[in-house]
Amino acid sequence: MAEVRQRDLTMTNSTPAEGAVERRHTVSLWFYLAGALAFLIGCYLLFLEDGVQSRTTLPSLSPRTQLQDGNTAMEARADIRTGTVKSSEVAAIYTAVARPFSGDFIASVWKDAEAAGVRRVTFDRAFAANAVSDPSIESLNASQPEFDRTIGDYVTTIVNADRIAVGRARLEQHAFILDAIERRYGVDRHILLAIWGIETNFGLAKGDRSVIRSLATLASVDARRSAFWRTELTAALRILDQDSIAPERLVGSWAGAMGHTQFMPSTYLKHAVDFDGDGTRDIWSSVPDALASTARYLQASGWVALRPWGREVVLPANFDFSLATPSAGRSIAAWRILGLRAQGGIMPTDDSGAWQLVVPAGAGGPALLVSQNFDALLSYNRAYSYAVAVGVLADKIAGIGGVQAAWPAGDVAMTRDQRVELQEILVSQGYDTGGVDGILGTKTRDAIRVFQKSKGMAADGHPSIVLLNRLRSERRL
Ligand code: CA
Repeated sequence: MAEVRQRDLTMTNSTPAEGAVERRHTVSLWFYLAGALAFLIGCYLLFLEDGVQSRTTLPSLSPRTQLQDGNTAMEARADIRTGTVKSSEVAAIYTAVARPFSGDFIASVWKDAEAAGVRRVTFDRAFAANAVSDPSIESLNASQPEFDRTIGDYVTTIVNADRIAVGRARLEQHAFILDAIERRYGVDRHILLAIWGIETNFGLAKGDRSVIRSLATLASVDARRSAFWRTELTAALRILDQDSIAPERLVGSWAGAMGHTQFMPSTYLKHAVDFDGDGTRDIWSSVPDALASTARYLQASGWVALRPWGREVVLPANFDFSLATPSAGRSIAAWRILGLRAQGGIMPTDDSGAWQLVVPAGAGGPALLVSQNFDALLSYNRAYSYAVAVGVLADKIAGIGGVQAAWPAGDVAMTRDQRVELQEILVSQGYDTGGVDGILGTKTRDAIRVFQKSKGMAADGHPSIVLLNRLRSERRL
């Protein structure tokens, strides 16, 4: 106590010399404070800068994610594609804070899990390890790309020399397993390699986020698609319960897609197989299990053995592009009569199924004659760009084909605003686009076809800037 009083006295009754020392201390204090502040600002800026750099290489929602509003599991899983991200989104990621999942939320998830037969001990273990949300996922899920990539950009980026070379190396390396999978499920080995290469770059980018944490975060913050995420969360809990997989091993992309070929949990439950016979359906670290599971999924989606996915064709002059639609499918012989010829190869001899003509970039781009195996690829992912990329990469790995015709150089990606405007004008002119939502599905494409036909244009149904400009000028008339 005496010491304290002594110090109090010193501070209140300081001499002039002591006052000077105090002022110097005050100046030094301000100097240190300013230095510390500058340091903190510097750190913050570096942090942001680092964020910008790392975000640009983070997965962003692909164009097709906008088209796949929670239909099937495989459709709705977000794939890994690089994309530019606004700095405001970067800031949002780093300002968001991980929150514990609420008691109400956990209780409602337990209700679903219990109904699905999940044991309480499994459930508790899963949420003990994943008690808080992943704030970075909230931003990833909220951000949508401003631009669609054109299919030409997508296919030429995905089907590159590196991916083809690695695909061929894996073809040799896993020949024995691929033989066995092909015999068992009838799915072409090159297709399996192409899917593996596109989904995770042959296992290099499988994702290492906790699937329980990712899906619980999405189920709790994404109100619009909450039901979809909850179903997948319940499926993930069932995997922990039934497949004896530890929560820390249940990892995947930020949207819950898992393993070498990015299965959603519900797809895993239905289609994953233990192909190497070790008693576990391990799509994360067993290549035989992952590729056989993919083959089994395609088989269940209607894949027919020994039938090509499709072939590039050359169309006759003045071709009626309104035939390039699913409902106009016909036999190879019937297409031949209409004047179609194989591009740089031979037409498939198989003539048992309906073959469909696809012009994915419009009349000015490549034309593909595709079989029902193309539809099986679409069940894996609904975007034509994906199915075409898988088919072309598979052919390239096999050493055949590839698309010969150039992708149209003038095909420019449209912004969401432009897509909405295109639909608005069509609707204002009495066409049915199936809604004005910026999603250019079959109805919008059919509406475009009708418009094109009425104007004597090639009725390819392809939405483009050129078409939008034409519609704008029509509106002004
Ligand atoms: Ca296994």
